[in-house]
Amino acid sequence: KEFLSTRRSCTTCPYCGVGCGVSINREERAEETAISVSGDTQHPSNFGKLCVKGSALGETIDERGRLLRPRLQGEDCDWDTALSFMADAFKQVIHDHGPDSVAFYLSGQLLTEDYYVANKLMKGFIGSANIDTNSRLCMSSAVVGYKRAFGADAVPCSYEDLEHAELIVLIGSNAAWTHPILFQRMQAGAAKLIVIDPRSSATSEMADLHLAIKPGTDAALFNGLLRFLSRHHYLDTEYINKHTRDFSGTLVAAQDWSPELTAATCGLSIEELLEFFQEFAATEKTVSFYSQGINQSSSGSDKNSAVINCHLATGRVGKVGAGPFSITGQPNAMGGREVGGLANTLAAHMEFTDQDIKRVGRFWNTDRVATKPGTKAVDMFRAVESGQIKAIWVMATNPAVSMPEANRVTTALKKCPLVIVSDCIANTDTARCADLLLPATGWGEKNGTVTNAERRISRQRSFLSPSGEARHDWQAICGLAQQMGYGEHFNYLHPADIFREHAQLSGFENNGSRAFDISAFANIDHSEYDALTPVQWPVNEEYPAGCKRLFTSGQFFTRDQRARFTPITPQSPQQKTSENYPLCLNTGRMRDQWHTMTRTGRVRKLLDHSEVPEIQINPQDASSYRISEGALIELCSTAGKMIGRAVMNGGQNPGEVFAPIHWSEAFAQDAKASALAASVVDPYSGQPEYKQIPIKVSAL
Ligand code: SF4
Repeated sequence: KEFLSTRRSCTTCPYCGVGCGVSINREERAEETAISVSGDTQHPSNFGKLCVKGSALGETIDERGRLLRPRLQGEDCDWDTALSFMADAFKQVIHDHGPDSVAFYLSGQLLTEDYYVANKLMKGFIGSANIDTNSRLCMSSAVVGYKRAFGADAVPCSYEDLEHAELIVLIGSNAAWTHPILFQRMQAGAAKLIVIDPRSSATSEMADLHLAIKPGTDAALFNGLLRFLSRHHYLDTEYINKHTRDFSGTLVAAQDWSPELTAATCGLSIEELLEFFQEFAATEKTVSFYSQGINQSSSGSDKNSAVINCHLATGRVGKVGAGPFSITGQPNAMGGREVGGLANTLAAHMEFTDQDIKRVGRFWNTDRVATKPGTKAVDMFRAVESGQIKAIWVMATNPAVSMPEANRVTTALKKCPLVIVSDCIANTDTARCADLLLPATGWGEKNGTVTNAERRISRQRSFLSPSGEARHDWQAICGLAQQMGYGEHFNYLHPADIFREHAQLSGFENNGSRAFDISAFANIDHSEYDALTPVQWPVNEEYPAGCKRLFTSGQFFTRDQRARFTPITPQSPQQKTSENYPLCLNTGRMRDQWHTMTRTGRVRKLLDHSEVPEIQINPQDASSYRISEGALIELCSTAGKMIGRAVMNGGQNPGEVFAPIHWSEAFAQDAKASALAASVVDPYSGQPEYKQIPIKVSAL
């Protein structure tokens, strides 16, 4: 492989939503050129630090396991053959069954430029909005929470608020493992840590207070907090009156949630509940830091709103060291949202309104813009199963492992008339379902931008030439667009051309009514793009150097610029434990692995931490089911089964079990935790419920 950079280059880590800056140093040794990876000391998100996964990036850039050339029905082929096959097949399906019979399923691993052209082709020219992303599985409920409250999918905080905060409430987050560099930043400050999580974790061990609530009771807890704030005169009435609407109805909805009822519902003692309430009430500088524990729920949107309600009621939004802070899972979950990677939005945070559809059409010079939202992830694979979707292109993700009812999704893909998979790895579970495999460039080869969890746009830079015949995803998408006859609209030569157009669209006919605006980059040239330093959006006339904190003036992106409270009626998890399925399964990440392990699973020192899926179970439960430490056990739900190794853990409440999400058939048979999850979703966001799955367990 050829090293493109002469000495040092700066890029970003491809794993989690922290979006750490990474420094690549090229070293000439005796007879070889080597690279070393370290944290970028100039990057304002991590200041030179990397976690164990980021530190091991240098061990993932060889060509082991790479997909090196296109493969059509099991045979190698060239790109021209692959693209003309794709174009003919897509055109035929669209001709016979209409534009909604095709779909793209994307990923928070894609760069913003890849995402932009995929969205433009599907929504702007094919004329369907059947384009969704694995970000649906991780943060779509947080998007609903922000849009309801602020009128925009806009995260108000910055990472530095974690250092300014005096209280950080982590809700459904094991940040010490899942967002390690942010957890270090929390510890660097002086804030008290309160962790709300049914299970003990590396994070809760460091907390001042751990509330091990009953699974799924977060909304009740925050309704109880809102009532407490009101009864004990901790409301910021001036802020509520001046900057918000719908408070009284929201308070009425919370009125029944006395401390006694809340404590009983959440499985907490009155003392620990009141300790949390009093800490929150008395601490102006409070950040609520939340993640999949509340998002991956059949009422995840309401849980997000319940948290935000308490911040609005105390005026703790847009202030130093305070705010409701949703943390994304993937490096570019937010970038995908910016360009319309979700089936229910248009590009640049626009919606499917007449005005926005026409506006996007004017900008792209097309009259074919989709006029209604497309299918969200779970519905998309249902439509593949039912035959409504007859051709699907999956890019940079592994839905045969990660979707709920993963085995059913695998079967649906195998029966689908046309499955195209773009990946840098050859042998993923999803790749095995493909009619056409397209080799994509991987980290180190890709060149573009990502946006991390604090709205910070950073460059991911290439320092290696593409492996084999791999192409950038944006090049493959433009290749299809050209073969389908839309070439004049997809004549990009460089990712800078795409980023510039994306920036222009963000400012196009935007009178300040949309949060996402990077129009300051509307004329960016290649050298400025190459030199782009990390910056937080919006980046426009008002904020030419970016914006650290949103809503500081108390003005929001609603029509009347006031934030909205949302009345919440707490809901139980949709699936309940029963005599047949008496245990509640929670799923999540391990410290050393990333997603379906296609990259981290190849690094020995990361795999050493845990080579097989380790299933955490309370010793009492283990004893009841005659399970011994280290035994192979089988978990069964109504949707599927999973096999793993039992680990006794007194930090698991009796009746609750935890399994990691990472393993796939590529590593072990029947090791997919997602196979156990039913296709139960939040009605507003479409996000699946991965955290409360009724199961039974038995020793093998
Ligand atoms: Fe990469 Fe996340 Fe670790 Fe930072 S914290 S090095 S972005 S995995």
